[in-house]
Amino acid sequence: LVPVPSDIDIATSQTPKPIKVLAEELGLVPNELELYGQYKAKINLSVIERLKSRKNGKYVVVTGITPTPLGEGKSTTTVGIAQALGAHLGKPSFACVRQPSQGPTFGIKGGAAGGGYAQVIPMEEFNLHLTGDIHAVTAANNLLAAAIDARMFHENTQTDKALFNRLCPAKNGVRVFAPVMLKRLQKLGIDKTDPNDLTPEEISKFVRLDIDPETITWQRVIDTNDRFLRRITIGQNSTEKGQTRSTGFDISVASECMAVLALSTSLEDLRERLGRMVVATNKAGDSSITADDLGIGGALTVLMKDAIKPNLMQTLEGTPVFVHAGPFANIAHGNSSILADKVALKLVGVECDAEGINPVEGSEEGYVITEAGFGADIGMEKFFNVKCRLSGLVPDCVVMVSTVRALKMHGGGPEVTPGNPLHETYLSENLELLEKGCINLVKHIQNARKYGLPVVVAINTFTSDTQAEHELIRKIAIEAGASDAVPSAHWALGGEGAIDLGKAIIKATNDKTEKREFKFLYDVNKPIVEKIEIIAKEMYGADGIELSEKAIEKVERYTRQGFANLPICMAKTHLSLSHDPKLKGVPTGFTVPVRDIRASVGAGFLYPLLGEMQTMPGLPTRPCFFDVDLNPETGRIYGLF
Ligand code: ADP
Repeated sequence: LVPVPSDIDIATSQTPKPIKVLAEELGLVPNELELYGQYKAKINLSVIERLKSRKNGKYVVVTGITPTPLGEGKSTTTVGIAQALGAHLGKPSFACVRQPSQGPTFGIKGGAAGGGYAQVIPMEEFNLHLTGDIHAVTAANNLLAAAIDARMFHENTQTDKALFNRLCPAKNGVRVFAPVMLKRLQKLGIDKTDPNDLTPEEISKFVRLDIDPETITWQRVIDTNDRFLRRITIGQNSTEKGQTRSTGFDISVASECMAVLALSTSLEDLRERLGRMVVATNKAGDSSITADDLGIGGALTVLMKDAIKPNLMQTLEGTPVFVHAGPFANIAHGNSSILADKVALKLVGVECDAEGINPVEGSEEGYVITEAGFGADIGMEKFFNVKCRLSGLVPDCVVMVSTVRALKMHGGGPEVTPGNPLHETYLSENLELLEKGCINLVKHIQNARKYGLPVVVAINTFTSDTQAEHELIRKIAIEAGASDAVPSAHWALGGEGAIDLGKAIIKATNDKTEKREFKFLYDVNKPIVEKIEIIAKEMYGADGIELSEKAIEKVERYTRQGFANLPICMAKTHLSLSHDPKLKGVPTGFTVPVRDIRASVGAGFLYPLLGEMQTMPGLPTRPCFFDVDLNPETGRIYGLF
């Protein structure tokens, strides 16, 4: 329709097919499906084993140029490509996207189900509670937070003997260790399984985690933009006997539990990672305190056992979508889950003989289109170096989303101020400004090519674009090494508008002449500083890096503790290739300051902080929630976008 109606109007005008029907179309068997209402289902991980003889489908990552306030449309394009391939080009296809946090949905950004005629539906369920995974993350995170403070409280108020009696109570005269306690004994080097055999010294070591409150890195979380929780004092009731402590809240999706969910490769792996999460150091400074030291790894896994199953939904055109996990894109890696991608790759994979070698005739190879958050310098870099490294999956192609208007902004176009009409520059042809701004696109194409993969540029079209502008982008992109650059009108036309883009992706992923040899940017076994430097120089175009004293101290500490061989997950602004959000285009001549380095040992990465990172957003003067309401008679929601 012209003009294109609002996202929620489009989304609610389409009746989704029952998710059971979609599951049948995908060949899922009934016991692999757990229904959450009519239009959502969780998929059991057993499907991976059942389909293990299938060869994975093609794996395409959607990323973008450096984001601007004008929006580039990565989610919309991810959905649009899946619609084009699945509903118009006869290829089995799957989109894999992140679950959005409710913070931005009611704050500034709005929802993240795509837009226009390329959306995941029902979009209100997508954007709100979905199947409760974020709630499960919140519950797990906060149980661990409560466990830390309660443990310190009890250790501070009880003798070794009293602690031991409570931790290992005698039942009918027999004391036993809970299984998780054996891990702690092992860590302490105490080779005993019977509590009665422990000497008083061993009892003291066992019962006292001796957490140094100053070193606690674990915060509480809530999935609301609540700035007044950024710093709080806890323990103020008299029952806590004056044991107050300053701490804070992060938004739920910034929890390490979310990063763990996204990076786990199986239920066993989830258990291991949750148990390994480090929350503090002991007072002696010689031991990191893990969730398993607190005895809680198992309980956290139980809270997240359903969250680990990918959520099946559909696009406006009835093609399948997995919505799964939504880790922060700065202090975490900002990609949807490994497991969703793995299951999807099997579901669209080629049927092979029992040995899994020779394709069965007539079995069509499909496509998984997965999205990486923020710009390519962050989302794509972490997709390759963190997510693919852990999953072992090998991608086939990069789709680089760009828009005429965002490139004009990189070329020096005027600032966009909220509430004001868009400047004329963005609404009429301006080839000079566009050409200048294309340097940003060129840098991202060159970056992507360093991983040895073909790059297809998606020009997400707006009604104000001109053909000459599209042709200019195409020429520059191909010169920079892209396989192709294709205008795509999925927002206005749905999958039909992305047919050319879909064809370009099929061509690029099947082109035997294209030199394709996927490689990581760095060897994970290199020293920490060297890995950070490689990313800063190769991806951001920096001259080098400069570590603060604190960062140097952390490098030494993590190296001593044996965490040096973890991949790096840079926490950097997404608004510039550099660490300075004001610098558009391709900044040069800068040195990246590394303020601090932190570890997410459970998730499995180190994250250097290049600036102040906000892990609890605030609400603006006019949050999105002003527009959201429902019609009590029909129950229909409006104002979500
Ligand atoms: P990203 O994933 O890059 O953050 P989204 O796909 O979520 O971007 O899109 C951001 C917003 O821009 C959405 O509200 C979407 O409807 C809108 N949008 C995306 N593409 C277009 C387009 N081609 N024309 C108009 N609006 C668009």
